[in-house]
Amino acid sequence: MNRRRSPYLTFKGLLALCILAAAVVLAAVLAVRVIRLAPQVSRERAATPTPAAVYGNVMQITPDPSLPTAAPVLRKGSSGDEVVRLQRRLAELGYNPGSPDGRFGNGTEEAVIRFQRVNGLEADGRVGELTAERLYSDQALPEQAAATPSPAPTPEPTGTPVPTAAPDARAPYVRADGLPLIVNRKQPLPEGYRTLQLVTMNDYCDSGVVKIKYKDTLAEREAVDALMEMLRAAVANGVGNWQITAAYRDKAYQQRLFDNKVSSLMKDNGLSKSKATQAAKKTVADPGTSEHHLGTCFDITVPGKSFAGTKQHKWLAEHCWDYGFILRYTKEKSGITGFSAEAWHYRWVGQPHAQIMHREDLCLEEYVEQYGSQAE
Ligand SMILES: [Zn+2]
Repeated sequence: MNRRRSPYLTFKGLLALCILAAAVVLAAVLAVRVIRLAPQVSRERAATPTPAAVYGNVMQITPDPSLPTAAPVLRKGSSGDEVVRLQRRLAELGYNPGSPDGRFGNGTEEAVIRFQRVNGLEADGRVGELTAERLYSDQALPEQAAATPSPAPTPEPTGTPVPTAAPDARAPYVRADGLPLIVNRKQPLPEGYRTLQLVTMNDYCDSGVVKIKYKDTLAEREAVDALMEMLRAAVANGVGNWQITAAYRDKAYQQRLFDNKVSSLMKDNGLSKSKATQAAKKTVADPGTSEHHLGTCFDITVPGKSFAGTKQHKWLAEHCWDYGFILRYTKEKSGITGFSAEAWHYRWVGQPHAQIMHREDLCLEEYVEQYGSQAE
């Protein structure tokens, strides 16, 4: 009996031991895996930033959750509660669409167009998905954003920090409605115009950033500060070697420039005095009609080079708007400005004017005509 039962018992015992051992090994393997995975998961959590940390500096449009998805496009002729809601929102932002009667008529359409212009949207007067999204977000720019220099609207996310310097509202080169003062052949410098605070650029500016060609060049301090901010950014972008060849000019100086041009045309081209005077007007402004009288314009050049086509020219054409400057005279707008294209002549107007003019492709005359709210 003992000899027969003993091996049987031993076999059963061994089998149980094996199963137990296998279970222990399996449990141990699983435990190790879980322990190894745990730090991996927490590492991944730590490496995945919250959306707020990633997009914290970028303008976010938060659509109103109550806005139905794929909302119908509202346009002239639409009516109903959605139109009431639209009219109330436009009124809240200062666009004055008339009374909120739920009928989308001319007044509502005009208000939508003004809203779209100020907010850089296609100005078609219809409220589609993009317009609705902006309109009901907290990024919607109110009406006065285009007409007054401050408060500046949130800059668009361009990837680089955008300064939003705006001119002093009391500065003589700012109109009563907050828009930049125009000086051109049709609108000469007002009688008795007085500058605000001229500085000698050669003393005021960092010579490591910009060279001032003529030592006695003056300009308005606010404009020089904005210029230096822009040129420092250019240098940081690897574009340097800047020169200023002109800034503020008084009327007497402009008269001398003009007279010199007339006599050189008479001498070199054999023109009569009246013909030379007519010809001179195409390139040199008559005294009182030059924007340089304001002290907020700069002829920006590169020493010893023709400016058009240089990398400095390309940089300015692309970035000047972000610093409150406009390329004042272009070929496309010469019929309106009265001046031939000048690649080197930039005027500081501040924000938000420069960015709106750039976005909507308006020269200063067109901009003031469209957004001005006074007769000057
Ligand atoms: Zn100029």
